Amino acid sequence: MSNFFLGRRGFINLEEYLPSLPMKGLLTFEQIEDLDSESKYLVHKAKDAAQYAYAPYSKFHVGAALILENDILVIGNNQENVAYPMCMCAERVALYTAASSHQGKKIKKMAVVAHKKNQKELTAATPCGGCRQVMLEYETLQNTPIQIVLLTKESKWTIFPSASFLLPFSFNKENLI
Ligand SMILES: [Zn+2]
Repeated sequence: MSNFFLGRRGFINLEEYLPSLPMKGLLTFEQIEDLDSESKYLVHKAKDAAQYAYAPYSKFHVGAALILENDILVIGNNQENVAYPMCMCAERVALYTAASSHQGKKIKKMAVVAHKKNQKELTAATPCGGCRQVMLEYETLQNTPIQIVLLTKESKWTIFPSASFLLPFSFNKENLI
């Protein structure tokens, strides 16, 4: 891992810096079969959802599947548009559907997967900053952690115990007070 230049403050070594981020408590698994049954179920549903993504421009198909406290499943996939800023990520399609169709029901866990067009194999994909912010908003609102299941770069399945793990130093409503 390389050093990063921070302007007048000089260089930092990322290996020294990263462990200070709130990353303890992650669960990682080599194989999808090693996941707990609920996570596995959500990964399969997210995979199904990715198949039907509308992604003619990026050709990057993303699927999200979340489960609510009453065990209702909600899915989402990315929806693109020729006017690019109109595009919507799979995670937010699922989160907004859950919030609008199942008001007040807490989200327990969400899986997000992605594959490139015409490729069956899943590729590592982690949510964009905007989706992390939205996840965190709903997590704060429901006052219960939302677990996030992802395939990370090292081809490892990772369960983040809370959306807050994906967005350290976040902007939240306390900033407004
Ligand atoms: Zn996103």
